[in-house]
Amino acid sequence: MNYLNKKTVEDIDVKGKKVLVRCDFNVPFDAEGNISDPKRINEALKTIKYLVDHQAKVILCSHLGRPKGEFNMKYSLAPVAEYLSKALGQEVKMAKDVIGESAKSIAASLKDGEVELIENVRFHKEEEKNDPAFAKELASLAEIYVNDAFGTAHRAHCSNVGVTQYVDTAVVGYLMQKEIDFLGNAVNNPARPFVAILGGSKVSSKISVIDNLIDKVDVLIIGGGMAYTFAKAAGGTVGDSLLEMDYLDYANKMKEKAAAKGVKLLLPVDNVVADAFSNDANTQVVPAGQIPDGWEGLDIGPETAKLFADAVKTAKTVVWNGPMGCFEMPNFAHGTEAVAKALAETDATTIIGGGDSAAAVNILGYGDKMTHISTGGGASLEFLEGKELPGVAAANDKD
Ligand code: AMP
Repeated sequence: MNYLNKKTVEDIDVKGKKVLVRCDFNVPFDAEGNISDPKRINEALKTIKYLVDHQAKVILCSHLGRPKGEFNMKYSLAPVAEYLSKALGQEVKMAKDVIGESAKSIAASLKDGEVELIENVRFHKEEEKNDPAFAKELASLAEIYVNDAFGTAHRAHCSNVGVTQYVDTAVVGYLMQKEIDFLGNAVNNPARPFVAILGGSKVSSKISVIDNLIDKVDVLIIGGGMAYTFAKAAGGTVGDSLLEMDYLDYANKMKEKAAAKGVKLLLPVDNVVADAFSNDANTQVVPAGQIPDGWEGLDIGPETAKLFADAVKTAKTVVWNGPMGCFEMPNFAHGTEAVAKALAETDATTIIGGGDSAAAVNILGYGDKMTHISTGGGASLEFLEGKELPGVAAANDKD
C-alpha cells in the first residue's frame, strides 16, 4: 500500500458540503473534570479550520475513554466542544447523542462554516465491532468523510473504517497526512545513515518491529528492558532484570541476521542496576551481562549512553521507540534523557514513536526539538512493524 498516495482535504471541494471528521479527542482529564492536556485537540485544529474556512458544514466525531458501549456522562465530549469553541472563536454545537435525533437535527441545520460535535462514538457498542448498520447511520450524517485520527488508525472501527463504505468520498486530514508522511518517509525512503533505537520492556512486544526494521536500517540500537534478554543470550548474567527466557534463541538469531545484512547492532555495554524496583534503591554501574544476583538493571549505563549518543551523531534519520530504562523513576531516567538529548542536538530527521517514548521526550523537555512526535502509540508501532493500518487504507487513493 502506498501510504503517501492518499487523497487529502485539499484534493476535494468541500464548500457547502456536510463533512464528517473523525478526530482523536481522547484527552486526559484532571480530578476536577477539566481537560488536563489539550494537545490532541490542538493537533486537530488545522484540519477543522481548513474546513471552516472553506465553508464546509463540519460534523466532528471521536471516542473518549472506554465507556463500554453505553451512554455515560463521565465520557461525554461536551468539555471538548467547550474547548473547541474557544479555540476556533465560534460556537461548536454539541449534540446530545451520536446518531440520534439531536445529532441529526443539528447536522441538518448547519450553515456553511458551522461546526457540530456529536457524542462519543463508543457510547454504542457497535462502534468497536465495525457494525455495518451503525457505520451506515454515521455516514448518513454527511456527504464527505475525513479521517484525522491517527491514534486509532490501527483499529478497524465504524467511525474510521466502516463509515468509508457508505460515503462517496473518504480522505485524510492534515494530522493523518503528517503522520504517514513522516513515518512513511522515515521507514521507506530514509536519508542515510538510518538509525533505529528500540527500547521498552519486552523483546516479545517489539519482535515485529525489529524484524521489519532490520531490513531497512544501517544501525539498530537496542536498550531498555529488552536488552537483558540479549545479554543473557550472549552468556551473561542479568540478576533479577527483566528476562524472557523463551526469546534467547531469537536474540541470537537476530544478532546473526544483523551481521549477515551488514546492520550494525548496538547493545548496552554497561547498566545501572538497583537492589530494588524503587527510585530510592541502592544503585551501582556494572558491565552489561555481569549483573549480580539480587540486582536488576533499570537503565543503560554512562558508557552505553555515550555509545548510543555517538551513533545518533552519525545519523541522517533516527526513529526511536521505547525508553532506555525505567524513566518514570528519575534515578533511572538518565539513559533515556541522554538519548533524547542526542536526538535534540542532531540535525538529522528525528521521529519519535507515540506512547512511552513520546511521553519521555515531552516530560524531559525535548519535545519541541524533535522533527516529529507521533500522536499514536499503538498505531506508530504497527506502522513500524510494516503492517497496513486499516484507518489509512480505507481512505481514497489520489487519482
Ligand atoms: P514498552 O511499553 O514495551 O515500550 O515499555 C515501556 C516501559 O518499559 C516503561 O514503562 C519503562 O519503565 C519500562 N522499562 C524500560 N526499561 C526497563 C527495565 N530495564 N526494567 C523494567 N522496565 C523497564
